[in-house]
Amino acid sequence: MGTLQGKGVCGGIAIGRIHFLEQRTRTVTQRNVPDEAAECARFMASHAVALEQVAALQEKALREVGEKEAAVFEIHQMMLEDEDYLDAIREIITNESVNAEYAVSVTREEFARIFSEMDDPYMQGRAADVRDISNRLLDCLEGKETDLTLGNEPMVVAARDLTPSETIQLDKSRVLAFVTGGGSSNSHTAILARTLGLPAVIGVGDALSARLDGDMAVVDGFTGTIYVDPDADTLQAMRKRQEEEKARQAMLLEYRGKPNRTVDGTEVLVYANIGSVSELELVKKYDAGGIGLFRSEFLFLDSDAFPDENVQFAAYRKVAKDMGGKRSIIRTLDVGADKQIGYFNLDAEENPALGLRGLRLCLARPDMFRVQLRALARASAFGNIAVMFPMVASVWEVEETRAILESVFADLRRDGVAYNESMEIGVMIETPAAAVISDRLADMVDFFSIGTNDLTQYTLAVDRQNASLDRFCDPHHEAVLRLIELVVQNAHAKDAWVGICGELAADMSVTETFLRMGVDELSVSPPKVLELRKRISEINLA
Ligand code: PEP
Ligand code: MG
Repeated sequence: MGTLQGKGVCGGIAIGRIHFLEQRTRTVTQRNVPDEAAECARFMASHAVALEQVAALQEKALREVGEKEAAVFEIHQMMLEDEDYLDAIREIITNESVNAEYAVSVTREEFARIFSEMDDPYMQGRAADVRDISNRLLDCLEGKETDLTLGNEPMVVAARDLTPSETIQLDKSRVLAFVTGGGSSNSHTAILARTLGLPAVIGVGDALSARLDGDMAVVDGFTGTIYVDPDADTLQAMRKRQEEEKARQAMLLEYRGKPNRTVDGTEVLVYANIGSVSELELVKKYDAGGIGLFRSEFLFLDSDAFPDENVQFAAYRKVAKDMGGKRSIIRTLDVGADKQIGYFNLDAEENPALGLRGLRLCLARPDMFRVQLRALARASAFGNIAVMFPMVASVWEVEETRAILESVFADLRRDGVAYNESMEIGVMIETPAAAVISDRLADMVDFFSIGTNDLTQYTLAVDRQNASLDRFCDPHHEAVLRLIELVVQNAHAKDAWVGICGELAADMSVTETFLRMGVDELSVSPPKVLELRKRISEINLA
């Protein structure tokens, strides 16, 4: 038996085999082939596999998000079957007597260039699609798995690091736990693990390597210890703890249907944070009163091209309808910094956390922003949708945003499309600037939602992604708590309400502090909802 130590970022015990996800690098070499016809046949065989994969992805998208999302994969199918594209590849193989991989990579670049030089922005966007299908073909030719498929047996997923787009592609029903070499408590892998209630350990370092692939392991998400190839005693002890944890979870389920009420009768809203439509099931299972944060960027991360208005509308409408009138706060696109998306073609930045992210990126690309706002407004006719904007620092940003929203509403009225005219509008308080001027911002919105992950990062000047700075990244810091209190006071003075949707909302050691401040709503990962309800019921503010 060997042990590895990292930091536990989501409690729980998992027992299973390790599946190590390798970082994907791709180098294509040019080779001469003796038999061009045989090489063309090899190419067409891989092509058939790629087509099958795309059809399967289309089905998955249909099941999980809806028709419009699946449309991207229809485009991929069409491209894969495009005769010009196929002829170009086969001609290179035949005329130059070269391997199929090389022919695909040359054709990929040529077609991507043609698309990106077109005038129509829609056609320009197809460059990313042609790259995507070509890369899939390369993987098929090399016998590699393009998708992060995990086999039939649920596994402990290990990786040096996982990007948000990699985590979204994983079939979560096959994941027992996450273990990463790098990462920090507030990284999106950690957040995703908490959303799904899966044990997670990060910051294990170089000891976590591909050599462990296939080994049995016990992951203790409470202590951050991983037992590789555990002996019989360890296995028995950890199985017992796993049972105890199951019993605790079953006890918490008894809190379903109960109010979030303190001993003295103070009530507070407890909502859930989610990142995809498929997580709506968890919101219901754990009986959250609403959605306090829908991280809409995961819709964009899960796609190979910009999701169009109808794709977005389908997802937001599903949230609105499924929640049956319960308030569902959808945050507009928050990419940049740690959440990079290839097809956005963002310039590399020296300091991405201080760069073009969140609302800044949306204001820099108003056409894209309008598409999202229109989809959100249309969905608001189907339920209780509220919208909020991330990474605000200045009053003018909110003024400009509201003006764009107003003109989107005007377009909808002109087109005779229904929307909820009194849809609530909020901003996230994630920068010290926004907290300090929250008295001014409160005049312009219905609510605030405090993003303590970023508020801590920017207040303490500590990179939330840097695991070695975890000691300095203290969300209980007096400066952070004082800013939160200031925001609550400023909001209430202007009749705005305040929620907290950062990870601190689930920290039961400060629940009483937040209730004493007068926080109106706490939004936590779905599996934390009932634990928080239990905690609230034990507090006496009198
Ligand atoms: C936050 O910053 O606290 C937050 C909720 O947003 P995200 O973690 O997605 O940046
Ligand atoms: Mg944030």
